[in-house]
Amino acid sequence: MTIPTITLNTGVTMPALGYGVFQTPPDQTRAAVATALGVGYRHIDTAAAYGNERQVGEALATSGLAREEVFVETKVWISDYGYDRTLHAFDKSAGKLGLAHIDLLILHQALPGEFDRTLDAYRALETLLTDGKVRAIGVSNFMPGHLDRLLAATHLVPSINQVEVHPYFRQPDVLTADAEHGIVTQAWSPIGGITFYRNGSRGSTLEDPTIGRIAAEHGRTPAQVMLRWHLQQGRQAIPKSVTPSRIAENFDVFGFELTADELAAIDALDTGVRGGPDPEDITLETYGRDIPEA
Ligand code: NAP
Repeated sequence: MTIPTITLNTGVTMPALGYGVFQTPPDQTRAAVATALGVGYRHIDTAAAYGNERQVGEALATSGLAREEVFVETKVWISDYGYDRTLHAFDKSAGKLGLAHIDLLILHQALPGEFDRTLDAYRALETLLTDGKVRAIGVSNFMPGHLDRLLAATHLVPSINQVEVHPYFRQPDVLTADAEHGIVTQAWSPIGGITFYRNGSRGSTLEDPTIGRIAAEHGRTPAQVMLRWHLQQGRQAIPKSVTPSRIAENFDVFGFELTADELAAIDALDTGVRGGPDPEDITLETYGRDIPEA
């Protein structure tokens, strides 16, 4: 089947639905990505910090798909911020992925306390784009204030802001800021995975009664309903699974449509409580770690 696409602010298109590999162990990554490509996903989201870029590259190399058929996204970790270090971070990621160019390269986090270093990293992304080594650039976990600081000091508006968005944490202020700047919001933990990895005290989006009712009405699963919610609201989404049946389930979301009332009912589930770390708290001291050479 043909996957709907999203057009980025540079004119580059990417699939509206992709496949993420956060917390996919390296020894499972090659098989999981091969399964995803076999099901029909044509966008893979990895990161230098996930430690599995090499295995993503192996799956791509053995997939039988042409390079231009798969949209590959990865992220520069904060320890590699700085103009020259970030240029080299591209070499490390491209080397592990086995690719000459990367479709979308993004900054994994802002470093709010060292924003000059973040800006230098972004300037390196601008250079990589100008040089044709990447086809689009972006950011992740940037709050509206971070975007304002970035846009005031750099030339190119990011194409993507990858942030935590699921029914229990919608971040409407970030969605609005992204839209105002023409930035596509890419939802991480799109089915609320970050809420399952915690102790479960707040319950899981998968067991939410409202989502369950909507799923039952459509003869679909809660995960499929949440992914539809993103797609119909214009967000790119990157569900993760290592389970073949779920990898297929999460891709089978193009044959039904939620109503405006159903979308609003899911919007209303927002708790305002994030599952991931507060982007304001990211520092090199706490989160820095060495990213190995290719
Ligand atoms: P997610 O995709 O919302 O959820 C993943 C979890 O849900 C896994 O435990 C998975 O289990 C389970 N699952 C998947 N499909 C399911 C289904 N149909 N039914 C029931 N359970 C299902 O959360 P995520 O992995 O945190 O986020 C997705 C992607 O976003 C990541 O892989 C990564 O690419 C990106 N991400 C980015 C950041 C960032 O800071 N930029 C942070 C987090 C994530 P199994 O794997 O065991 O099937």
